[in-house]
This record gives sequence, structure tokens and C-alpha cells, in this order.
Amino acid sequence: MKFNQSDVNALMEITSRPELVFVRGNGSWLEDHNGKRYLDFVQGWAVNCLGHCPASVVKAINEQSAKLLNPSPAFYNEPSIKLAMRLTGASCFDRIFFANSGAEANEGAIKLARKWGQLNRKGAYKIITFDHSFHGRTIATMSASGKPGWDTIFAPQVDGFPKADLNDIASVRALIDAQTVAIMLEPVQGEGGVIPATAEFMQALRKLADEHGLLLIVDEVQTGMGRTGKLFAYEHAGITPDIMTLGKGIGAGVPLAALCAREAVSCFSHGDQGGTYNGNPLMTAVGVAVFDELTAPGFMEAVNDRSQQLSEGLARLSAKWGMKGERGVGLLRALIMDRNDGAAIVETARNSSPEGMLLNSPRPNLLRFMPSLNVTAEEIDLMLRRLDDVIQQVRA
Ligand SMILES: *Cc1c(COP(=O)(O)O)cnc(C)c1O
Repeated sequence: MKFNQSDVNALMEITSRPELVFVRGNGSWLEDHNGKRYLDFVQGWAVNCLGHCPASVVKAINEQSAKLLNPSPAFYNEPSIKLAMRLTGASCFDRIFFANSGAEANEGAIKLARKWGQLNRKGAYKIITFDHSFHGRTIATMSASGKPGWDTIFAPQVDGFPKADLNDIASVRALIDAQTVAIMLEPVQGEGGVIPATAEFMQALRKLADEHGLLLIVDEVQTGMGRTGKLFAYEHAGITPDIMTLGKGIGAGVPLAALCAREAVSCFSHGDQGGTYNGNPLMTAVGVAVFDELTAPGFMEAVNDRSQQLSEGLARLSAKWGMKGERGVGLLRALIMDRNDGAAIVETARNSSPEGMLLNSPRPNLLRFMPSLNVTAEEIDLMLRRLDDVIQQVRA
């Protein structure tokens, strides 16, 4: 295949894309239109938790697509029941609503909290969120997000998302008023630069929410499904949230997300929530296959082993190059650099030959690593060696 600028002009331009077309993927590797291979430590932004085209997902799609695609969300289907039972069985939640994207699951969480406020808190509707948080790209989830500049691009915002500072409980307490219904956060801010909420902060939030009769909502679209070395990141803090959203890894690359709630909070009336594709058997069958692989004996131990290997390797690179260390939880990690050459490193890594490498720099002085959860020890070593070379080239 030949890359043609005039052909890609038929696509709406939403970001600056490199002049290459990916045609196939396998595990930690991607191949472009010239047959060049890339070691992928982005994995669709932490989406492909089992790597590219995992056999279990391909099989689930093949088998389910020959059986039933979508009877409509107005009827029950087998895979959605199975996946809901697996998720409630493995978490503190009792009810699941399936959605198609993380943003849509978060919209559902916001609606559910507001409905609960109408029923239980005299119409309280404000949800305290955090600076530098990311909850999606719909109008309401952009309003909930604390990304700089997002308060004005599509003004007016949806009202009712005051912003506190992560890991500063006093800043949360100061925002609570009679209209407050919930607190919502990512257990590790992903897009914000891999900034973990501390266990103490999560516990203090739970206590504060209980004192004031507020709901605690965790957006685990990026941190859920094993990414942090436990199935759900809230488990690290030993707390029980009221609502959780899942996305990304739950579908291992296909559009699937979930809104999970405890029984007492599951207060939608008929007609309040729905959607054409929600809980369709094709995607939820994939979800069942993914869940079973992530929860198989030994899987999470391997995630934690690889996490330690990656953490130590990044710390060594940081020390060698005089950088500012590494941080993260599980296989969501960041290297904090001493200079703003993130973009140059990402580009040089991608353009390396004969093989390239895909990395992500969510901030100019930061590299983020989101390999597949079944990445091998050899692949992590290879990435670390090549990253060392790339830093050398960029800083030569
Ligand atoms: C990616 C992400 C979202 C949005 O998910 P989409 O599927 O892109 O809509 C929401 N919250 C967090 C924490 C995310 O990382």
C-alpha cells in the first residue's frame, strides 16, 4: 500500500497524525503500510490490555458474530448477563450498565448521581472533580474534566463540576455545599501525567463522602481491568466506592465500557438510560473472554512482576540521564524527565529503523508507558534498551 496525502484528506482532521497507515498488529507489535514493525508501548492508549489481536478476542468475535449481533437493549442476551455477573462477582458493585465508550459510561455515572440527588438529597447535583482530571470528550464529561482550556472551548460548559486539587482533602471539603451530590476521581490521573491519588486520600474521600451523604465515584476507565496490578485500582486503598466506570481494557480494543453501581444507588427509572448498542452480545462476548483471561491464575502476578521490572528499568534510565525519576502503579507508568524533549523522543522512537517504537508524551517533560498487560520480560528489556538509544540520539 502507498501512503497518499490526498486520500487521507477525506478524514476529518482532529489531530496531527504521522504519515503512516497501520495495517496489522500482533501482541506488542504493529506493522505499517511499508511492512515496518513497531514495538508498541502505547497500545491504543492503554486500551489493548492483551496486546494486538489476541487469540481469545478474535475467537469470541468470530463465534459470537456468527450467532447473534444485537437483539436490541430492550431484550436480554446471554453474553451481557455473563459479563455483568463476572463484574459484580469480582467487585463491590451490584448492578452494571454497559456502554460503548468511557465518556458514555461517565455520562451515565453523572446522570445516576444526579438522579440519586433528586431522590435523596433534595435535588443536589454538583459533582466535585479534580484539576488535571480527564473524564472524556462529550460536553458533560469535558465539563467534568480539569484539563486546562477545556472550560472555554465549547462554552458554555455543563454546570456543576467544581474542581478540587488531587491529594488535598481540605480543597475538597472547601467545595462542599448543600448542592453537592458526589465526588468523582481517577484513582490514578492518566492523561494528567500518571499522578496517583494516595491510599490515604482515597480513604479520606470515602470518610468525607460518608460524613456529608455524598456518593464516591471512581473513573476506572484507564485504571480498571488489571492495569494497576489489581483488577480495580480502588482495591489498593481498601475502600468501597458507590459508582465505578470502566472502559478501555474491558474490551481489549473493541468499543465496550461499563457503569457499575451499588444496589442502593442504582435508581434509574425505566427510560432514564439506554442506547442502541448498549450491552450488545458481540462486544460483551469479547468482554467475557477478556475478563476470563485477566482473572486466570497467575495473570495478575505476571502484571506485577512486569510492573516492577519496568519501574526499576525506568529508574535506572532516569539515574543515567539525570532525570527526575519514575512513578505510576502497575503497568501505567511515567518517566519524569529533566527537559521538555518528550515530543522529540516520541518522534525519534517512531522513526527509528529498521524497527520503530511507539511511546506517548502526555506532557512535554513526561513519557507514559501503557504496554499490554501480557507484555513479556524480553519486550520490556528491548523497549528500555531502545529508549536509552533514542535518548542518546535526541540529546547528542
Ligand atoms: C480514556 C478515558 C476516558 C474516555 O474514554 P473514551 O472511551 O475515550 O470515551 C474517560 N476517563 C478516563 C480516566 C480515561 O482514561
